[in-house]
Amino acid sequence: MAGRINDDDVKAVRAAVPIDAVVSEYLQLRNAGGGNLKGLCPFHDEKSPSFQVSPSKGLYYCFGCQAGGDTVDFVMKIDHLSFAETIERLASQAGITLRYEEGGYTPGRQQGERTRLVEAHKAAAQFYVEQLERPEAEIGRTFLAERGFDQAAAQHFGVGYSPAGWDHLVRYLRGRGFTDKELILSGLVQEGRRGPIDRFRGRLMWPIRDISGEVVGFGARKLRDDDNGPKYLNTPETPLYRKSQVLYGIDLAKKDIAKASRAVVVEGYTDVMACHLAGVTTAIATCGTAFGGDHIKILRRLLMDNAGAEVVFTFDGDAAGQKAALRAFEDDQRFAAETSIAITPDGMDPCELRLARGDEAVASLVDSRTPLFAFALKSIVSRYNLDTEEGRIAAVDEAVPVVAAIKNPGLRDRYAIRLIGMVGIATQAEEQSIIRRVRGLARSRQNGGPGGPEHGGRGDQRGGGPGGSRYGGRGDQRGGGHGGPGAMGGPQARAPAVRRRSRAARR
Ligand SMILES: [Zn+2]
Repeated sequence: MAGRINDDDVKAVRAAVPIDAVVSEYLQLRNAGGGNLKGLCPFHDEKSPSFQVSPSKGLYYCFGCQAGGDTVDFVMKIDHLSFAETIERLASQAGITLRYEEGGYTPGRQQGERTRLVEAHKAAAQFYVEQLERPEAEIGRTFLAERGFDQAAAQHFGVGYSPAGWDHLVRYLRGRGFTDKELILSGLVQEGRRGPIDRFRGRLMWPIRDISGEVVGFGARKLRDDDNGPKYLNTPETPLYRKSQVLYGIDLAKKDIAKASRAVVVEGYTDVMACHLAGVTTAIATCGTAFGGDHIKILRRLLMDNAGAEVVFTFDGDAAGQKAALRAFEDDQRFAAETSIAITPDGMDPCELRLARGDEAVASLVDSRTPLFAFALKSIVSRYNLDTEEGRIAAVDEAVPVVAAIKNPGLRDRYAIRLIGMVGIATQAEEQSIIRRVRGLARSRQNGGPGGPEHGGRGDQRGGGPGGSRYGGRGDQRGGGHGGPGAMGGPQARAPAVRRRSRAARR
């Protein structure tokens, strides 16, 4: 985002924040002689320190990976922020009020407003944490304890409690100088019949932070039966909070995601907590929305498209989760090729898994992952009886369009061969015919032929199944649909064993 911050203010910020203070938030610095400091480089893996900081010059340099620059460069690189975001953040740390040049207005980022909203959220998060200690919040503490989260865990994630009643937070934030207009804009408060009221009342509160660690919204869990609201209530869209762009846990996970070149996507706040506590510190979750294109972009910046970069989606067999994974195909197939699926045993989510079987079970969940393409194929093939010719032919008919939808030709051929192995094709002639069908269909799609150029959108034309993919707009709800050509198997392809069995029983 191109913020046009006054040049003198930028200079002032650069001068005001010492580089060693900023860097040591991320790594330990030791004396390196000559007034310099050294530490383990945060940008590459190393065992002996080649990362140097010169406080007098205000610069850092790594002799291992040649990363280097000043304080602003460091923050931009390590927190994956834009220049303007970095200056704003350092300015607020240094207590400098920024001036913005005329014409520097960026939609959704009016000067000052963002800072005010961030401050309101910070105060609210603190308020909610304090409330969790009060007698009224017993029900919330019990909820956490029953899911295996002690006080330290709650603190680590900043979990709090919003008191029942109408305007506890309104009054608290007014007392700290926030206007009603700011409170409404923040989403923390909503318009009531007789003035502003708290949006979140009598709920367990998870602060949702952006990548730099600033609280930008909340996720709130219903605790009482007389609460008529939804089970989870999230902050609405605000200038700070865009659900398509927030990932719960990203502030805690970002460094390990970058280091391990892997992100683990789970479904809920408690799942993120359980994973992190079990040692899977690369876990994140979307907040009240499916995983989409903007989320992919955020992960890409962290994964930096390394060769081995990988995103693991975990599912407990819930259909909503499968749809969420499907977005990965919809937006970007290069991303799909880097995607794996891990199904939790017995339909448990990671939080339940940790409770029932401990930390190790959560860690081995990630080890059990299958590449998305392979997962889709396996799911299709397992629906057919391969002991019969009819079953084999039907399985091939359904799987061929799915394999043909893989855009990378090398990968496509590999999966065609894999399909042949899975269904147990006997003769070479049949093998060749399957490979030819896959290639032919892929070619005709590239030319905009039947099946559509991108995502099919017409369902399986070969009679492999009654419904199309979600792009075909039919098979989605009925659970019996088969993956459309562009959908890599569609949501059903990712149906877990449990659902597949029940569907087979219905047939
Ligand atoms: Zn380095």
